[in-house]
Amino acid sequence: MAQWFAAKEQAGSALVFFRMGDFYELFFEDAEAAAEALGLALTHRGEHQGHPIPMCGVPHHSHESYLARLIRRGFRVAICEQMETPEEAKARKSATLRREVVRIITPGTATEEALLDAARPAWLLALVRGGAAWLDVSTGAFHTQDAPEIAALVARLAPAEILTEEGLELEGATPALVPKDAPGRLAEALGVASLEGFGQFSPAESAAAAMAVDYVRGVQNGALPRLAPPMPEGARGVLLLDAATRRSLDILDGPRDASLLAAVDRTLTGAGARELAARLAAPLDDRAAIRARHDAVATLLEDGTRRAGLRAALKGAPDMARALGRLSVERFAPRDLGAIRDGLDRAGRLARLLDGVPPGLLDAAQAPLSALPALAQELARAVATELPARLEEGGTVAPGYDGELDALRRLRDDARGAIAAMQMQLAQAWGVASLKIRHHQQLGYLAEMPAAAGEKLLRAAPPGANGELAPIHRQSMASAHRFTCAALAALDRRLSEAGDQARAREKLVVAHLRRMILAEGDAIAAAAREMAALDVLAASAELASGGGWCRPEIAERPDFAIEAGRHPVVEAALRRARGPAFVPNDCDLSPGQRLCLLTGPNMAGKSTFLRQNALMVILAQAGLYVPARAARIGLVDRLFSRVGAADDLAGGRSTFMVEMTETAAILNQAGPRSLVVLDEVGRGTATWDGLAIATAVLEALHDRIRARTLFATHFHELTRLADGLPEMRLAAMQVREWRGQVVFQHSVAEGAAEKSWGVHVAKLAGVPPTVLKRAAEVLAGLEARAAVGTDPLTAAMPLFAGAPPPPQPPRASPLLEALLALDPDALSPREAHDALYSLKALAAAKEGL
Ligand code: ADP
Ligand code: MG
Repeated sequence: MAQWFAAKEQAGSALVFFRMGDFYELFFEDAEAAAEALGLALTHRGEHQGHPIPMCGVPHHSHESYLARLIRRGFRVAICEQMETPEEAKARKSATLRREVVRIITPGTATEEALLDAARPAWLLALVRGGAAWLDVSTGAFHTQDAPEIAALVARLAPAEILTEEGLELEGATPALVPKDAPGRLAEALGVASLEGFGQFSPAESAAAAMAVDYVRGVQNGALPRLAPPMPEGARGVLLLDAATRRSLDILDGPRDASLLAAVDRTLTGAGARELAARLAAPLDDRAAIRARHDAVATLLEDGTRRAGLRAALKGAPDMARALGRLSVERFAPRDLGAIRDGLDRAGRLARLLDGVPPGLLDAAQAPLSALPALAQELARAVATELPARLEEGGTVAPGYDGELDALRRLRDDARGAIAAMQMQLAQAWGVASLKIRHHQQLGYLAEMPAAAGEKLLRAAPPGANGELAPIHRQSMASAHRFTCAALAALDRRLSEAGDQARAREKLVVAHLRRMILAEGDAIAAAAREMAALDVLAASAELASGGGWCRPEIAERPDFAIEAGRHPVVEAALRRARGPAFVPNDCDLSPGQRLCLLTGPNMAGKSTFLRQNALMVILAQAGLYVPARAARIGLVDRLFSRVGAADDLAGGRSTFMVEMTETAAILNQAGPRSLVVLDEVGRGTATWDGLAIATAVLEALHDRIRARTLFATHFHELTRLADGLPEMRLAAMQVREWRGQVVFQHSVAEGAAEKSWGVHVAKLAGVPPTVLKRAAEVLAGLEARAAVGTDPLTAAMPLFAGAPPPPQPPRASPLLEALLALDPDALSPREAHDALYSLKALAAAKEGL
């Protein structure tokens, strides 16, 4: 327990996985937490201060799946290993094995396949005042940013783990320390004299980067994975999307897995999926770079044969970047060596398949993809075709690669043949036909036989069983007895020596291969990046090849003209449901008509239209094709979307305060190159307030900010602003009435919605007929007032604002209604009596008595 307490001290808040033989055991509150999280049985072992010690354990050989579940639940786990064998402990006359915490596994520092999501980067984000750094230990990617907008950065990266400097509060973050002399520490960690070669880092950026690196080192017991040179990322170059915009657009995640990413992802590799997610999370704001991506997609779209070849070579390609990460921290399995071998082979094939492409991204990828032919060849020779799960099992190195290893293996295998021969010899000498030689972990090779035969041999050994072959009894069990003899013991020694030597030699060869790979780490990482990028480009072309997607023209002028655009997620959902097809819609917010005010009843498709146009920008600037017949988009610098928040009232997110904070962010940050998409501003408050605020926001966007704007509203009254705002166009969702029912046509037409369709929608939703009838009456009254010139804005709205309703318009009598609602045949005499009383009471109320 003393050892455990020491380990726990070092582990801090992490659960201690305390190795005891074939198990990792957990004790005290760790055991309680893990038993709860994993559904394990909680037992007890020994006592501490008079109380039994809670304990639970997981088998060593299957611990990764338990680890994965704990890490996913947000736990950190410290691995405390046995650092010596029982023999070594005995040799130094110690009753307990030496144990040490070798590593603390946290969500942001894991490298094991089982702990990672193949399709998502595992960012560890470090935040200090005025700076941020984020790195992916599993691939070595490393970035920094000066003066980041924290909420936006967190929303963009969706980090696996966040570190914050003392004094910076952020929910769920781990507090960490900024080391002294941060630039020096960082340079040392990266093996350079100074950071200057990597670009310009602000003091805050290098502080954040050093904090991240120190943390990784701390949890890995001093070891540091291979890291790419950190890339300082200015705010320039990417389309800015704030946290609320990301939430409203379901870019990477959405309800029921319906996200933009899921709808457009046709990648074939985990690395490709990660790259696509990264591109959608941070679209570009640089025309040349975006065009370069579109050019590449166009090339691959036109050349279907080449695309098919590339995709065939990508399919099933291993994750080189992550294998390299595991190799760099020496926590690798044989398949990681196989991954580098196969990955380089695939990269070479991809490079050849790119022969003859026009200049551009594809052409530039050829060199990095085929940069390592010598290493590829060497690994092809060195790494076995069939790989064992673990290095200790032997067989990682291919036969024929290392002469000495081959010789040792031959010796070992010859000895195996000798075991078979010895089994025959002993069976004969001891007169036991059923004798079998088996290997035991502790006892080595032993001859095993059924209990009866064993008893007989013990009573009287046959004459041939003497000298080297004289049986020596080792163990009796209920059903079997185990023996050895001098000859078998000698063979056992020879065999285990040959095995040990072969293993030791293989370890050396593997270490050599690992060094060879790490020496080319940067080039391998570059090849892996190109492969991922190629996967994304080919996937985008594949998606577009299905028809209905077009190359967006990225213009200098702040145009925005979409012809027959669609919402890829809603479209996919409709297709899956085999319902009506998605109705494409145009949208033009080009100069002269920058602002579009969209009206229409609920469920008509307003939010969908707004979102689809915002998504168009994300897809286009991420370098993908867009779901439209044609699209011309002037480069967008910031995209603001506030759609659907108002629908989330139940989620508790969209209080009026939140809505206004988010609106304020737009009014403060949007500019003439931005696209603003606003849904139902002011819905979270009383009608008067809401209408006033919506009006003011619209005017500001039109007159001062001059952003391209889509503004959906159910405040019909806003359409009157069109007269005063020359760049504002009115649009309405088309709705038809058919046999008293509403039919949504989901198409956008010019002009304002003619009629409030709320009552009809309420009917569709199953609101009881009496309530509908009453609503229809109120509506008729309001319309009548508007018709005679009374402004329904000033006179009718108080009805909804909660003021006492004016006595006009004509209204059916409650007495009459109650009477009509009675069904005499359905009443018991008692109920009939009660009904009479309540009718009388109503009559009295009406007469004011
Ligand atoms: P609103 O915001 O006007 O209340 P939504 O945009 O939420 O309406 O759309 C309601 C539903 O109508 C969507 O869930 C979708 O199923 C359907 N819909 C919306 N737009 C279209 C369209 N263009 N084509 C087909 N169906 C659509
Ligand atoms: Mg809506």
